Amino acid sequence: MAFRDVVNQDHAILLFRSAVRAGKVGHAYLLVGPSGVGRRTLALAFAQFLNCERPDGDACGECDPCRRIVSGNHPDVRILDVAHDKFFEAPEKDYRGKEIPIDQIRALRADAAYPPYQGRRKVYIIADAERMNPSSSNSLLKILEEPPARITFILVAESAVALLPTIVSRCQLVRCTYLRADQIERALVERWQTDEARARVLSSLADGRLGRALEWADSEERLAARDRLLDLLPALEEGDLLVRLDAAEALVKQTQGKEGDLLPELLDLAVLWYRDLLVWKQLQEPALLVNRDRQSQIARLAGEYGEAMPGARIEAVEAAKESLRRNVNARLALEKLFLSFGAAPAATP
Ligand SMILES: [Zn+2]
Repeated sequence: MAFRDVVNQDHAILLFRSAVRAGKVGHAYLLVGPSGVGRRTLALAFAQFLNCERPDGDACGECDPCRRIVSGNHPDVRILDVAHDKFFEAPEKDYRGKEIPIDQIRALRADAAYPPYQGRRKVYIIADAERMNPSSSNSLLKILEEPPARITFILVAESAVALLPTIVSRCQLVRCTYLRADQIERALVERWQTDEARARVLSSLADGRLGRALEWADSEERLAARDRLLDLLPALEEGDLLVRLDAAEALVKQTQGKEGDLLPELLDLAVLWYRDLLVWKQLQEPALLVNRDRQSQIARLAGEYGEAMPGARIEAVEAAKESLRRNVNARLALEKLFLSFGAAPAATP
C-alpha cells in the first residue's frame, strides 16, 4: 500500500513527498477525484510514509508500522469508511450507512485529543467525506480550525463541491485524475499479471478507474455476465417479441447477484459493444476496438447491420440507463429497450 502501489497519480505523490521532505506536512488534505482511481490507496500510502521506520522516498512496506497500517491494525491510523463498514466507533443499531453521523466525528475528536500512541503522526482518513451531514461537518470543522499537533486528516471525496466551503478552505486540495485506458492496461499486465487480451477489455470497461477494472478482473460472475450479454445482444435482433420480453426478465434476474446490481454496468458494456460496431463500420481498425476478443464477430455483424443501427442502439441504451437512474422499474426499462431492437434502424437495405 505504498506510493509504488499507486498507479499514475504522480502529481499527488510528488506533493506528499515534498511536504515530508520540507518538514511541512499539513494538518488536513482533501483528496478529490472519481472513485476507483486510487484515492484510498494513496491516502493509506501517505499514512504509511508518515509512520514508516525506514522511509526512503516511499514507505518500506515491511517494518512493523507499515504492516500494521496495511492490515488495519495501527492504533494511530484510523479509517472511517461507512460504505465498507469501517467506523471510528460502533454505529447505532438503526444505522443504515448513508450518511456519516455526528457520533463518528465526536469519536474522532475524542480520540484526536491524545498524542500518537506508537507512530510519529496520527492519521485520520475519512472516505466519502461528502456523506457528512451538516452537524457532522460542523463538528469536524471545529477540530480542523484548531488541529492538535502531529495529526493529519485526509478527507476523500468525489469533488469539493459537496463539502462545506469552510472545510474545503482548511484543507490542502489534492487532485486524483482518471487514468488513460493504456495506463490501466499496462498496470493490469505488469502488476496484476493479467492476460493481455483480457487486460485490453478490462481497461476499456474501466472508464478511467483502475479499481473498476480490478473489480471486473476478480469476478468470474461479472465476466460471465459480460459474455452472456454480448451473446444476447445480437440474438435479440433476430428474436421475436416473446424472446425479447423473456430476455428482459432473465437479465434482470441475473444481474441481482451477490455483488449487488450489475445492470447499470452491463448497460455500459452494451454501449461499448455498439460503439465497437460503429467503429468497425467506419474504420475497420482492430486497435480501436474495446471488445478485441470479439473482433471477428464484430466484423461480421457490422457488415450485416444497417448504417443507423449502432447509433440508434446507443441512444436507446442511454435512455434505459437514464430510466434506471430515475428509479424506473428495471424490468420495464429493459422491456422497452429490447422491444426497440430489431426495428427499422437495424434493417439492411
Ligand atoms: Zn516501513
